[in-house]
Amino acid sequence: MRVPMLDLHAQYQTMLDDIRSEIEKVFDSHHYIMGAQVKEFEEKMQDYLGIKHAIGCASGTDALVLAIKALNIGEGDEVITTPFTFFATASSIWRNGAVPVFVDIDEDTFNLDPDKIEAAITPNTKAIMAVHLFGQCCDMARIMEIAKKHNLKVIEDNAQGIGSTFDGEMSCSFGDIGTLSFFPSKNLGAMGDAGMCLTNDDELAAGLRQLRVHGECPKYYHKWVGLNSRLDTIQAAVLLRKLDDLADWSESRRKNAAFYNEHLAGIAGLKTPVIDERAVTIYNQYTLRTERRDELMAHLQKRNIGCAVYYPLPLHLQECFTSLGYKEGDLPISERAAKEVLSIPIYPELTDEMKSYVVESIKEFFK
Ligand SMILES: *Cc1c(COP(=O)(O)O)cnc(C)c1O
Repeated sequence: MRVPMLDLHAQYQTMLDDIRSEIEKVFDSHHYIMGAQVKEFEEKMQDYLGIKHAIGCASGTDALVLAIKALNIGEGDEVITTPFTFFATASSIWRNGAVPVFVDIDEDTFNLDPDKIEAAITPNTKAIMAVHLFGQCCDMARIMEIAKKHNLKVIEDNAQGIGSTFDGEMSCSFGDIGTLSFFPSKNLGAMGDAGMCLTNDDELAAGLRQLRVHGECPKYYHKWVGLNSRLDTIQAAVLLRKLDDLADWSESRRKNAAFYNEHLAGIAGLKTPVIDERAVTIYNQYTLRTERRDELMAHLQKRNIGCAVYYPLPLHLQECFTSLGYKEGDLPISERAAKEVLSIPIYPELTDEMKSYVVESIKEFFK
């Protein structure tokens, strides 16, 4: 038996004809840039998430860069964020000339620990960038409370958490701007790069729409310098079709997680994911924790089970951020997580046989 970490082909098989005919329509229209499907997809996303404005762009990374620009955060400003995340979270701050200030995570959820945010606030702090890691929404009640008290902006990097909720409220709807990635491995994946900004603020939405086309308004007149970062029409057409199945896929991921939770419970030395009871996660990843991580990974790989470490080195220790002055030991919970986490296959098309094989292989290791 072979269980890949992700099987995009299995998903594609279920909608192959639909997707080909949607792409065909874009070819026939020749509106490759900002065609009708882009607007249609933006509107459908607004309805799906219950957020007033959706602004498509070229990637989840660009969505973050655009969000920071739209909030006028730059040189000399500080943005508080987590070091236990994908690189783009912090690079988007850095690329705007601002300084990422890393705050440690919660041991159980791997998300930014709200109790540690206030100590990191300085007169230069402009925003908090929360990341809903592995599909679980952060404690946005606490984060918004802190942001309001200190007059800070909030960006939600929701690349991994589309459709997740906290206290019954949709992720991306708490902060000033939320961002999504449609990288193929996300729960809603394009067939290439794509991303999106979401906001309920009319003025920010207008700014984001300008910034994604070089900051122009009207055409060929620029009051600020933006990016060339539009959502490709072909990708929008693919995403429009896939959005129909997103809720079902997330439900299947939760069912797979429930199976793992049940069958991996009580194994000494192994911790299954902890989900806050106020949160509904979408399980972009199902992430185990064990001090014997590297051994377990080798064991699973030998049994043809895909698995991956997200992420092996926290961002405060990345070479490119040496000048920020962090050293090992500064953010111990993130550093320990980086040594102990292992994500296993959770994608919706996993069969019962595959899940049982994964469970048996893990049990065998710990026996
Ligand atoms: C995937 C991801 C991004 C970047 O998205 P791209 O579309 O790959 O540019 C940003 N932040 C997080 C947390 C991600 O997982």
